Amino acid sequence: MSALFVVAASAFAVSSTTAFTPGSFITSTASSKLASSVTTDTSTISSTRARLGSSLHMSSGGDSDTVECLVIGGGISGSTLAHNLNRNGVDVVLAEARDYLGGNVKSHNDDGFIWEEGPNSFATQPSIVRIANELGIDDQFVFADESLPPWVNHNGMLHPLPKGQGGKGPKGQLELVFGPNGVLNFAFKGQLLSWPGKIRAGIGAFLGHLPAPEGKEETIREWVTRTLGEEVFLRCIDPFVSGVYAGNPETLSMKAALSKIARIEDYAYSIDWNKFGAIFYGGLKRQVELTKERKADPPEPQWVDFEYGNPGSFRNGLSTLPNAIAKELGDKVRLEWKVTKVDKDSDGIYNVSFDTPDGQKTIRTRTLVCTAPAHALKDVFTPVLPESSVLLDKVRKEIDRIGVYYPPVCAVTVAYPKSSFKDVELPNAFGNLQNLPGFGSLNPRTEGVRTLGTLWSSSLFPGRCPPDYNLLLNYIGGSRDVGLADLSDEEIVAEVDKGCRQVLLKPDAPEPKVIGLKLWPTAIPQYELGHLEIIDQLVKAEKNTPGLWICGNYRSGVAFPDCVTFGYDHAKVVKQFLDGSKAPPAAAAAAAPPAVVVDEPTGTSTGNPAPVAATVE
Ligand SMILES: Cc1cc2nc3c(=O)[nH]c(=O)nc-3n(C[C@H](O)[C@H](O)[C@H](O)COP(=O)(O)OP(=O)(O)OC[C@H]3O[C@@H](n4cnc5c(N)ncnc54)[C@H](O)[C@@H]3O)c2cc1C
Repeated sequence: MSALFVVAASAFAVSSTTAFTPGSFITSTASSKLASSVTTDTSTISSTRARLGSSLHMSSGGDSDTVECLVIGGGISGSTLAHNLNRNGVDVVLAEARDYLGGNVKSHNDDGFIWEEGPNSFATQPSIVRIANELGIDDQFVFADESLPPWVNHNGMLHPLPKGQGGKGPKGQLELVFGPNGVLNFAFKGQLLSWPGKIRAGIGAFLGHLPAPEGKEETIREWVTRTLGEEVFLRCIDPFVSGVYAGNPETLSMKAALSKIARIEDYAYSIDWNKFGAIFYGGLKRQVELTKERKADPPEPQWVDFEYGNPGSFRNGLSTLPNAIAKELGDKVRLEWKVTKVDKDSDGIYNVSFDTPDGQKTIRTRTLVCTAPAHALKDVFTPVLPESSVLLDKVRKEIDRIGVYYPPVCAVTVAYPKSSFKDVELPNAFGNLQNLPGFGSLNPRTEGVRTLGTLWSSSLFPGRCPPDYNLLLNYIGGSRDVGLADLSDEEIVAEVDKGCRQVLLKPDAPEPKVIGLKLWPTAIPQYELGHLEIIDQLVKAEKNTPGLWICGNYRSGVAFPDCVTFGYDHAKVVKQFLDGSKAPPAAAAAAAPPAVVVDEPTGTSTGNPAPVAATVE
């Protein structure tokens, strides 16, 4: 979860001792082309639609009573998709069950505090900078100080993970390796890993490791232990996985959950002389490739300056983005519309039924993209795509799981006076802990702290709390602590407070000022063993229902930027489909893209980004 995404990415960069930085995985030729193809003026159409009321729409394609695209689910995936479709001149409606857009993105601003109930930040990617520019909210961006490290709590001390100083290009890479908080310092002076642990990691990184077992899907724990050793797993990757997925590395699939990192091993073996797959060289090769990709597809001149992967948000929180989309789309957004059933006419039009505050409503649509969570889809698509039940009923005995699993996570924001933080000097000249010079702190499961990770919110972004306070966003719960959901709010706060005292506070620190508490009973989809098979089955079945895509963060990646990138990429797929199906039959056959084509064993598909965690490319 949380900004710990970024922490996590850095953590892995460390553990694999490669010089790759957390950054964009977007190879966004698709996105840039999409945006540049956005030319249609929809103002006339939309004003006509505005007069037509809630369930009757005139399609710009000519079918009366029928919209061109209906997007279900107004989280970041669905709302960014609807924005892109709208910009592309597609007659779109966005239907959302809750009374706001954003899904689990929810920011608050009250009494001098700004806080988040869901994600804390994003690892900045071109897709986010682009959409903010299009919506005119890029003047509200806030980016963290790039030198602020994530810290790992181990043995009663905080240990910084390597981080560059914010230098760009080769300078940044050199800083990441040789800088005051660089990889070399971490390897030779850092105390997070023991010497045997460092030597084991060094062997895996620079000399090689055992090959992957044939015919077996590895868990994250198995993969990391094989390549870099048990200690790197326990002290770097275990908290990383808590940070990204609130997950269990013994059930999460390496290839599904961290596919871009797993791919580093393929890069490593693709180097002729690197017979034993030492992953440092694979990371280096990928980094070179990535640099070329970014040069070939540079940011557009009108965008604000940004650094790939740098933690970012908006001045008033992440909700700024969905709020701006809500404003832009106006009456194309239907709030408190909960989809209940989808069926299809003989002419290929989808009829989608909703429970709404005004009773049951139906929308007819030529294409339909669902971005609601898998757990919300029971029976909804049965009439048109019975195979979609695989998301809910696929049994995986090996990990004792049925369907895609979403564990509970609680986000608890608390504030303490600065003076109540431990008065200790931190390593690598970061200064006093009271100033919280970092991104946040992660708690490996071996450390006996129930909180998974604590974001140092007031250090990350300016103006989040009064100057004499530090603001902390704690994430607690996850796959390995599902009992958390049974606690009362008071009990959860007590656990969070206990964790803060174990890691950050003086023994006599006052009670916390509780700013916000939000329990997400079904927070983040887990990409566990067998997940890719589930997605593969879904994708194959989808091919028989042209114009219908069942998507979401269980398919295209859980990180906020993954969702925004999905919004660009999938708008292109829908637009091509619509254009193709408007053309005469022969041309249509040539123009229409396949609904979705899986082209890589990792689940990467045309128009549907691979399931991948967070920010590592
Ligand atoms: C606690 C937490 C912390 C996180 N921290 C970070 C972070 O710091 N950085 C980061 O990059 N990512 C983070 N993430 C992940 C990221 O926020 C999510 O993956 C992303 O917001 C998901 O967006 P989405 O649109 O795919 O799904 P959702 O946000 O789940 O949106 C789906 C929408 O579908 C709607 N819906 C459900 N059922 C129906 C129905 N029947 N009809 C109509 N609509 C329906 C829902 O109401 C919801 O609005 C975090 C997630 C959580 C939960």
